Amino acid sequence: MKSLYVKFVVMTLGIMILSFFIAFVVSNAYYQYNLKASNDEKNTEIATEIASFIDANPEISLEEYLTTIADAGYQMYLADTDNNEQFFGAEFNVPILPEDVIGNVLSGEIYHGMANFEAEIFVTGFFANELSNTIGVPVEHNGTAYALFLRPDINLLFNEMHLLFGILFMLTVLLSIVLVFISAHFLIKPVTKLSEATKLLAAGDYSVHDLDTNRRDELGELSSNFARMSRQIEYNDKIQKDFISNISHDIQSPLSSIKGYNKLLNKPLTAAERTEYTETVDFEIDRLSTMTEQLLVLSSIDHEDYLLRKESYNLREQLERLIKVYEWKINEKGLMLSHKLQDTEIVADKALMNTVWDNLLSNAVKYNGDAGSIDIEMTRYKAHTVITISDTGEGIDNTSIDKIFDRFYRADTARTSSIGGTGLGLSIVKKILDLHNGSINVRSNENGATFTVRLPVDTTE
Ligand code: ADP
Repeated sequence: MKSLYVKFVVMTLGIMILSFFIAFVVSNAYYQYNLKASNDEKNTEIATEIASFIDANPEISLEEYLTTIADAGYQMYLADTDNNEQFFGAEFNVPILPEDVIGNVLSGEIYHGMANFEAEIFVTGFFANELSNTIGVPVEHNGTAYALFLRPDINLLFNEMHLLFGILFMLTVLLSIVLVFISAHFLIKPVTKLSEATKLLAAGDYSVHDLDTNRRDELGELSSNFARMSRQIEYNDKIQKDFISNISHDIQSPLSSIKGYNKLLNKPLTAAERTEYTETVDFEIDRLSTMTEQLLVLSSIDHEDYLLRKESYNLREQLERLIKVYEWKINEKGLMLSHKLQDTEIVADKALMNTVWDNLLSNAVKYNGDAGSIDIEMTRYKAHTVITISDTGEGIDNTSIDKIFDRFYRADTARTSSIGGTGLGLSIVKKILDLHNGSINVRSNENGATFTVRLPVDTTE
């Protein structure tokens, strides 16, 4: 995590340095292409004015006058025809002029050294303290011809401004560096916290708090997604543990009852007792085999490349056959079953669809009240058929209704725990319907639950 912090700081500082260079080059180019000409023009005007003043006032001392101008903020170079030369004001860093320039100026030409000063990437022409970066004008004083070269003394003119800009620049850089360090800390902090939380999660501690879930940015979103994920993992872990304890109980109770009846069967019994005990043992063996079947179905349809064995068959016949199988259970519980079915050919995996109706009907029986009723209806639409199975049990409360299709979930009520089950049935139902591009919904109140299955008639679509 430290390396992310360092990377962020280094990258930001790198960007600052790069931006500085780009800005420097761009503003330099702006001087070269836009400001240079007008700077030259302005200084030519000043130089010409100085020259005319000297011409018009032969009584003044040329030296004194030029010293005063230099004091006002100019650097100058004066040459005459006899190669005498004089400098006024601050020294030039490069006191060299191109060949012939002095001669040309002496013969009356104006030298535009500023406008013609060569552009270089890292040299700002405006600041280049070179003799060639001047304006040269011819001057006549008391009959002698001179060439006068002049440029403003940038150091003198802009000294305070230099300092001011220097301080401004240094402060900006310093403050930016400090602020980059601070902001990097705040930016990286949630990532550090997330990393800590991941370690805790990996160690099985789901109490993920102290994450910045309220931030209104991608890190906030990542943190809240992480918190949601850890809640989901915690929930999955809980139902998995519950499942193990449920299934151990569900396996244990038929096994102990089989063991008990087996012991009784070894004792002298009447024929009626023997039949009753063998039937109970059979029943318990059936319970165990249903459970293992359910687990097998689930693990097989869970494979991504599970192949449905589709066939065309009559759905009404399938439902009626199942209702017959359940008849004795329904009668035993004193329930009433009514149905309204019609001939409908569907293309589906018949065995898996049987598992769907079997689970829904067995739940409608299991969770029904005494002397309750079950109603099965089938409505045919153009491309799909809708089957509703309603019961008159206690229904499913609001907190459980979203979870009943989750694997291993069983509503946490006193009634449910007294009724056998694994919490797998509805998750199998949902998975099978998904595989057939169908769907299942549930509506419920305290007078019972209604499961609605929607199934495409031709599931090859
Ligand atoms: P199981 O019945 O083995 O517990 P299911 O997956 O079939 O598992 O059902 C999940 C849970 O949904 C049940 O434990 C029960 O709480 C609730 N449930 C399912 N069907 C009904 C129903 N018809 N009426 C009330 N509750 C139901």
